Amino acid sequence: LKHIESQDKTVATAARHELARQRDTIELIASENFVSQAVMEATASVLTNKYAEGYSGRRYYGGCEHVDTVEDIANDRLKQLFGAEHANVQPHSGSQANMAVYLASVEIGDTILGMNLAHGGHLTHGSLVNFSGRFYHFVSYGVDPETGLIDFDEVRKLAHKHRPRMIVAGGSAYPRRIDFELFAQIASEVGALLFVDMAHIAGIVAAGLHSNPIPHAHIVSTTTHKTLRGPRGGAILCKESWARAIDKAVFPGTQGGPFMHIIAGKAVAFGEAMQSDFTVYMRNVLNNAKVMAETLRNEGLSLVSGGTDNHLILVDLRSVGLTGKDAQMMLDEAGITANKNSIPHDTASPLVTSGIRFGTPAMTTRGLGAGEMKEIAELIALAFKNPANTKVKEHISGCVREITSRFPLYEAGASFTS
Ligand code: PLP
Repeated sequence: LKHIESQDKTVATAARHELARQRDTIELIASENFVSQAVMEATASVLTNKYAEGYSGRRYYGGCEHVDTVEDIANDRLKQLFGAEHANVQPHSGSQANMAVYLASVEIGDTILGMNLAHGGHLTHGSLVNFSGRFYHFVSYGVDPETGLIDFDEVRKLAHKHRPRMIVAGGSAYPRRIDFELFAQIASEVGALLFVDMAHIAGIVAAGLHSNPIPHAHIVSTTTHKTLRGPRGGAILCKESWARAIDKAVFPGTQGGPFMHIIAGKAVAFGEAMQSDFTVYMRNVLNNAKVMAETLRNEGLSLVSGGTDNHLILVDLRSVGLTGKDAQMMLDEAGITANKNSIPHDTASPLVTSGIRFGTPAMTTRGLGAGEMKEIAELIALAFKNPANTKVKEHISGCVREITSRFPLYEAGASFTS
């Protein structure tokens, strides 16, 4: 950071503090991860200087021969990872990817069936505060109040009643497997397109540990920075018949020049996800989530759907008399980072919530295993049961320091750490 340091002390100091925060805290935000140093280098490379509107071999600017190489590799690797016919790695984020998907496939005002945000869906699946809910007529399905599982009877009923142009599957806070085949069957019964947003589970799918939506969906979108462990960004996969429409919807439909440094980071991360040790990593992510869920349950906490099949856990805090906001703050003070989250049928506002979401991708990247995850879950339960006890808080902070010091994050000599 020496150049930032000499030119802009405030930014350099904030970046240093953020590095220290990442190193010294237990990161349990389910949508976060720690990229490799190779991915970090790619995203900080000279590729950030290049304008490359258009696509490989047909750009609107000269001098694109090297960025073409980078984008071609990213596309090829992404297609190979998921067995897709076509890939577009230009979306700047998951939300931008989803915006392009809708632009390519439905008309303003069309009916779309998506998962309720409060039941685990995403803002871009029809929330009224998002463009999706304002431009399209969304109808929402949710989870069964008893089991916490997607209520496919309701999905089918709503699909037949509203005859949507599209059904959206996937979400941000759904801890169970998603049956893409069943979604495809319902979509075909009513002549709807099936769009799968696999942002959260893409890494699990890439490792072959969750069923792949590609054979079942017309279009699939993802983020690249969650379980897939790449740089912050989005991507779209589709059948060849949708390729032209998707590419047009990304550029010039919703974006200008692609972020070539980020696309380079995506290429590197996709290369990493193709290695066998990524499968080992992802197995550990799932196992760590299971251990955490089991420990939290044994400690008397109530989990939405009773457990987890993936990398995330959603805790219903009503049984311990805490709000999500208070729980998040309490853990923050002890050095454990997580996020408050609405639970199905939540009566609290989205800024308060009755739930908290935990995920294991980031700490598994740091090398934590089942023993540590059990210890962390016990510390969380201890915090929740003793909200006002300073001695308990000090004890937890000490344990967090001990755990994080045993699993260092990023080597000391890396350019972004010194
Ligand atoms: N789709 C799902 C299912 C997500 O969970 C998220 C992010 O949380 C997104 C889309 C949006 O991604 P981004 O934050 O990159 O816009």
